[in-house]
Amino acid sequence: MIQFDNVTFQYEKANVPALSEITLKINQGEFVAVVGHNGSGKSTLAKHINGLIVPTSGTVTVCGLRTDNEDNLLKIRQNVGMAFQNPDNQLVTTVVEEDVAFGPENLGIAPDEIRLRVDEALASVGMSDYAKNAVHHLSGGQKQRIAIAGILALKPKILVLDEASAMLDPSGRTELLQTVRKLHAAGMTVIMVTQYMEETIDCDRIVVMKSGRIVLTGTPVEVFKETDLLSESNLVPPETVVIRDSLRKLGFKLSDSVLHADQLAEAICPLL
Ligand code: ADP
Ligand code: MG
Repeated sequence: MIQFDNVTFQYEKANVPALSEITLKINQGEFVAVVGHNGSGKSTLAKHINGLIVPTSGTVTVCGLRTDNEDNLLKIRQNVGMAFQNPDNQLVTTVVEEDVAFGPENLGIAPDEIRLRVDEALASVGMSDYAKNAVHHLSGGQKQRIAIAGILALKPKILVLDEASAMLDPSGRTELLQTVRKLHAAGMTVIMVTQYMEETIDCDRIVVMKSGRIVLTGTPVEVFKETDLLSESNLVPPETVVIRDSLRKLGFKLSDSVLHADQLAEAICPLL
């Protein structure tokens, strides 16, 4: 679905590349989390997926289309929906359903089809009951779900979230993550950039970035074994993993597959 081949990217006037020799393949239906310290290149990577920026060297191919061919950009952007940090910057009208309809209306889609898409998109993000509500009365989490509904109404194959949960409170983050998981379960290919390691536990794969390079990639179980590499990348594993590893240091035997709080509880109980 998405292929980065030896991608290096340097911003104009920058002294060092923001991305260096990135090779990454993301399959259809995969849920990939991208983590890394501030400035490690996560947003730069995300922007390559819909051709907002193109590699200085190397190639990015999305749905079989190269991003460095301008003729492909419209098609690529129809396939890739992007959600960003601030939901207020992504909402354009005052009423929820109008906002979700905004994208399809701009594409000149027929009103009947728009109605269907808006209803379906609002249902996908669990916001059907809010169709007629005022956007500015919604919580941050709800706004972000409306922003995602607006993306879904354009029927993308790929959803890229660039720290979309960063400005939300814990319950907003939970709502958003549940929505994203549901979309993934329904077949969406998801790339989720996040600063919250807890959010990555259920992903198919985690990509860890440091100074513009991928330093580690693997399943959550594989990645959260690499304690040293994570701390070298200035990343703190989820709290459950921190507790798991502290108990291990005290001599308790806990398996690498313990990632969730309930798994941890289940593993600890017999030890007590
Ligand atoms: P992250 O999203 O992981 O915080 P970014 O992709 O935003 O990282 O940035 C990667 C590197 O590129 C950083 O060193 C950052 O300062 C630099 N950078 C980002 N955007 C620009 C820009 N528009 N011009 C110059 N340098 C930039
Ligand atoms: Mg960023």
